[in-house]
Amino acid sequence: MTLDRDAFFIDGGWAAPATTGTIQVVSPHSEQVVATVPEGSTADIDAAVAAARRAFDEGPWPRMSPEERIEVIQAFSMLYAGKLAEMAELITIEMGSPTSFANLAQSPAPWMQIESFLAIAREFAWEETRPGALGGDVIVRREPVGVVAAIPPWNVPQFTTISKVVPALLAGNTVVVKPAPETPLDTYLMAELLAEAGVPAGVVNIVAAGREVGEHLVAHPGVDKVAFTGSTAAGRKIAAVCGEQLKRVSLELGGKSAAIVLDDADLGATMEGLKFVGLMNSGQACVAQTRILASRKNYAAVVDALAETVSGMSVGDPADPATEIGPMVAQRQQERVEKYIALGQEEGARLVVGGNGMPDGLSTGWYVRPTVFADVDNRMRIAQEEIFGPVLSVIAYDDVDDAVRIANDSDYGLAGTVWTADQEAGLDVARRVRAGTYGVNTYTMDFAAPFGGFKTSGIGREFGPEGLEQYTELKSIYPTAPAM
Ligand code: NAD
Repeated sequence: MTLDRDAFFIDGGWAAPATTGTIQVVSPHSEQVVATVPEGSTADIDAAVAAARRAFDEGPWPRMSPEERIEVIQAFSMLYAGKLAEMAELITIEMGSPTSFANLAQSPAPWMQIESFLAIAREFAWEETRPGALGGDVIVRREPVGVVAAIPPWNVPQFTTISKVVPALLAGNTVVVKPAPETPLDTYLMAELLAEAGVPAGVVNIVAAGREVGEHLVAHPGVDKVAFTGSTAAGRKIAAVCGEQLKRVSLELGGKSAAIVLDDADLGATMEGLKFVGLMNSGQACVAQTRILASRKNYAAVVDALAETVSGMSVGDPADPATEIGPMVAQRQQERVEKYIALGQEEGARLVVGGNGMPDGLSTGWYVRPTVFADVDNRMRIAQEEIFGPVLSVIAYDDVDDAVRIANDSDYGLAGTVWTADQEAGLDVARRVRAGTYGVNTYTMDFAAPFGGFKTSGIGREFGPEGLEQYTELKSIYPTAPAM
């Protein structure tokens, strides 16, 4: 079966591209082209925004009741549930996500998000009447913002697309999605499911394209809000444009999160946990906890245990269910991670596991050997900058206060964990670290609760009622003159 496509999803159907440009989707494992799809141009974005604009200004979607929209998204959810394996497989093909991770997070987690947003939308205060301060009642409504530009990255493409499209739709907005050029394939399947569920024409439009075309979408006068997930560098540029135009914007950006191992932690269980929180999706995760903080007293034991755990991980074909670490998404990403590994050595960190060069037994693919550095100072660049690959740094702390200080000594503030036998001590640390999500002996995102970043990790929140609020404007109506 070919994965090639020759059209964009615009105005409820398959629209011919405005130009002849194409994107070749290349397998990060085999380095072979696996699909060719059209590359969006500014003219395609203009057509998509025009369709979304029409659907918002004149179409039924924003005028339907929340209950009617919930019914359509419920149908989408049921269709999505039937395609979880296919969706996960597409993401493994296009970006090399290990199938073990893809079948855990790349499609089931987006589906859980849909279900969670549906439950939230059913209880949401779309319109409420409250007693006013002047004696009369006030009606407070939550109305859609308008046309939303949704821009996801390649690493968790459905996860970050659904987190924007579904709350935007439930609130009555219309959407233009610009998938990253590395990962267009999953959005074609999503488009088919949305259409089958009965989402009206123009309500969702999808044009995969690169950065410059993304900039055109962000600055487009027909767009009312930008919802972006990606690097902090791109987030700054997007925020500047939205600031100038006073467009609504929400940003989910990078991270450099810390996992704090307290002295009473069960080392075996902690290592199993760190394997996941540090190296999920081959280290290509915004919430990856790549700074491992260990006390000076326990430092050698933690480094040894981590070295043993990481060197035992299976690296290879992402389609193999036994694979724990797959390739990097692209050659430039492989080169970027290798540059950081070389930098760590130049900065004086001690290479304990991994290092540059292909992993044993592999000759093609954009692989990086899972790597652990010890004797890392938190001011080193490898401890401050987001590497976005399977590279962990172990940093020593003096006491718990020092561990919290080091965890907070970062421009980022996305996530974190603490590992301890003492739940109260863990909760105390969780309250002191400046990060948007935090786990005690675990890191699982719960879609009923807000997710997002402190500091340069972002602005705004996804998930939970707070994630739905991001796609609404508040309106107050004074229905009668107050009895003054
Ligand atoms: P990126 O910023 O290079 O690109 C992200 C998306 O934005 C892509 O679709 C890209 O084409 C587009 N883009 C880039 N610059 C743009 C601009 N100026 N205007 C409009 N569109 C633009 O990031 P990436 O390399 O694709 O993804 C990795 C980054 O994403 C990492 O920093 C990671 O931490 C972050 N991320 C964050 C979260 C989160 O929820 N906080 C989740 C996943 C990934």
